[in-house]
This record gives sequence, structure tokens and C-alpha cells, in this order.
Amino acid sequence: MSDIIQLLPDAIANQIAAGEVVQRPASALKELMENAIDAGASQVQVLVKEAGKMLIQVIDNGKGMTMTDARMSFERHATSKIRSSADLFAIRTFGFRGEALASIAAVAQVEMKTREKGAELGTLIQIEGSEIKKQELVSCQEGTSISVKNLFFNVPARRNFLKSNPVEMKHLVDEFQRVALAYPEIGFNFIQNDMELYNLQPGKLSQRIVGLFGKNYQGQLVACKEETPHLNVRGYVGKPENSKKTRGEQFFFVNNRFIKSNYLHHAVANAYEGLMPSDMHPFYVLFLEIDPSHIDINVHPTKTEIKFDDERTVYAVIRSAVKQALGAHNVVPTLDFSL
Ligand code: ADP
Ligand code: MG
Repeated sequence: MSDIIQLLPDAIANQIAAGEVVQRPASALKELMENAIDAGASQVQVLVKEAGKMLIQVIDNGKGMTMTDARMSFERHATSKIRSSADLFAIRTFGFRGEALASIAAVAQVEMKTREKGAELGTLIQIEGSEIKKQELVSCQEGTSISVKNLFFNVPARRNFLKSNPVEMKHLVDEFQRVALAYPEIGFNFIQNDMELYNLQPGKLSQRIVGLFGKNYQGQLVACKEETPHLNVRGYVGKPENSKKTRGEQFFFVNNRFIKSNYLHHAVANAYEGLMPSDMHPFYVLFLEIDPSHIDINVHPTKTEIKFDDERTVYAVIRSAVKQALGAHNVVPTLDFSL
């Protein structure tokens, strides 16, 4: 009998991994925006064409990369953000898996231009289906620009699986909003097919909320703040009378990372009990600060799920923070308890 097991070539391994990291244009946008923030950008520009199917481009004024790093950034498990497994328990950056760029480049035509602060020249890299097509020195602006063209050009089944432009656009806007909310001190703009959808100046969280969701949020936001030895909560919740029939504008961030959690959502909903009909949904943007050693964000490659050491305490602190905020603002109950 002869041996039959072989290691997969990198391009194939990357394409398989891409299936998990990049499901649709919005997942690529998320990864690129997170990289821009990890790079310390103060201004992030997003351009998309055809709901990201044709182009997703993110331009940042962050620290940029050397030519060697630019090349390395497309290797799988190549990251500047962790060095040891101990670092896994103290993650402060968005990235750490070193998978995003390798995955994206496995299933799209990618062009990167990057220049380190102070460097005379920058680097241009074109990579397509994990294959480097071009690598050269160029003059370009400081920071990094990455264009992702024709996502899934080499995976027809995936490409066909993409939803209509309005649906994919909604996903892109959702991801954009999540990142932009978490970083009000960073300027963002978002251009779709040459039309500017958002132009967000650096400012305070309340201004960012208004910039993203509209002027009618002015005066509707109740500040929320609670500090415990374990966990800090801050942010804004909407006045009960401003609640909506549909869920949607509800955001939890843990150490500035957007997460989904029905359990924590319930904690907020519970704090509104008696203040609005139970089929209505409040607006909230809540930031939880917690020691990274008490959470595990390595549950899923897209990192929107999280495990807490002590979920029940987190629940109790959130509920109490929201309840107090609503109480402190003398929010009048919408239900009549005298009946
Ligand atoms: P991760 O973010 O998990 O480290 P990525 O594949 O997203 O993995 O990126 C790989 C590496 O490329 C990062 O660790 C970082 O050093 C570098 N990099 C990626 N995007 C940028 C950017 N916009 N600016 C500067 N460096 C970047
Ligand atoms: Mg990354």
C-alpha cells in the first residue's frame, strides 16, 4: 500500500477557510474596516459598487505596511497582533487570527496599496485567487487602501448564492454602522456607486448616533452608565415612547466589538418592562467594558458570538444600568398601572 495523504496547497486551504470568514461582501467589508481601525486610522473611507459584488474598497490613514509585511499579510495565520497563546486571553485588537486577507485574496481579485508613515515609497500588490500577479514599489498616500473586486469570481456557486443588491447593501450598511458606532472619534464615509451615503465627522457617541440614524434621535437618547469592579456599561438607550415595532437598531459592544446576544438583549428588554408594550422594541447602543480574561471571543471566526465567565452578573449589571437610566430621566410609564 502506498501513502495517500497530502497537505493541501495553500491556495486550496485558503479557499476552504474563506468559506467561513467571507460569506458575502459585508463580511469582507467588516474585516477590512477592522484592519483599518487596528492600524490606528483616524479616517476611514469605504467605497462599494454593485452592493460590493463588483468592488469593496477601504482606504485608511493608519500606520501602513512595509513591503515585506504587505506581502506577508496575505499569508494564512500571518498576524502582527498576537505572538503567543497567552496573548489570546488579552486581545485588544479586532484581528488576531491572521485569516482575513488570506481568505479574501483566495476568492477575489485584490489590490493593496500601502505606505508606512514617513516611508518614501509604498507597495502595490495585486493578488487573485491567492496568486500574486504584481508586486512593486509605487508612490501612494500614507496608510492602506485595499480593493476587493469581483468577490467569488472563482467560486461560481458562492457568487450565485449572493442575494439581490438591496439585500447585500443592507448587510454592508449594517456592518458599516456597527464599526462606525464603536468609533465615534474616527471619521468615516461611505460611498455607494459614487453616491455618498454617510459622511461622519469625528465626535461624540450621541453625534455619531444622530449621524447614522437621523436627526429625530436628537433629544431621544438617555445616557446610561454603570461601573462595577467586574464590568462597566455605558451608552445610550432610547426613550420608551421612541421604541419601534421592528427590532434592528439595537447594538451591544463588548470591548468595542459588536456582538449578538439574545440573553443580553433580554436584560435590556426586561429593564423596559412596564414602560412600553411588550411587542415594542427599544433603541439601544450599549458598550460593555470587561477584562478580556473573563471573556472568550474565539467562539466563531466572525467573532460576533462571545462567552462570558459569569453571564448572570453581566445580565444583572446591564438590566440595572438601563433601569436606572430610565428612572433617572423620569421616563413616564406608557402603561397605566392604576387600572
Ligand atoms: P488579523 O487582522 O487577524 O491579524 P488579517 O488577515 O486581517 O489578520 O491581516 C493580517 C495582517 O496584515 C495584520 O495583522 C496587520 O499586520 C496587516 N494589515 C492588514 N490590514 C492592514 C491595514 N489596513 N493597515 C495596516 N496593516 C494591515
Ligand atoms: Mg484582520
